[in-house]
Amino acid sequence: MDRQEAVYCSFCHSVDVAKMSMFGTAQLVSQYYCHQCKSVFEWVRWRRTLDEVEEKR
Ligand SMILES: [Zn+2]
Repeated sequence: MDRQEAVYCSFCHSVDVAKMSMFGTAQLVSQYYCHQCKSVFEWVRWRRTLDEVEEKR
């Protein structure tokens, strides 16, 4: 299960997070909401390849 990303809150490191809508400007960044500290944080999808970035242009 390599595709499953371990997303955790960047503030309290909780994994009790919910994915929100993506940013329109940056496909590499997803927005998540943490149920623990009730904060919204951004999660960068590091595993994206450069090819996918180029494809967006
Ligand atoms: Zn949190």
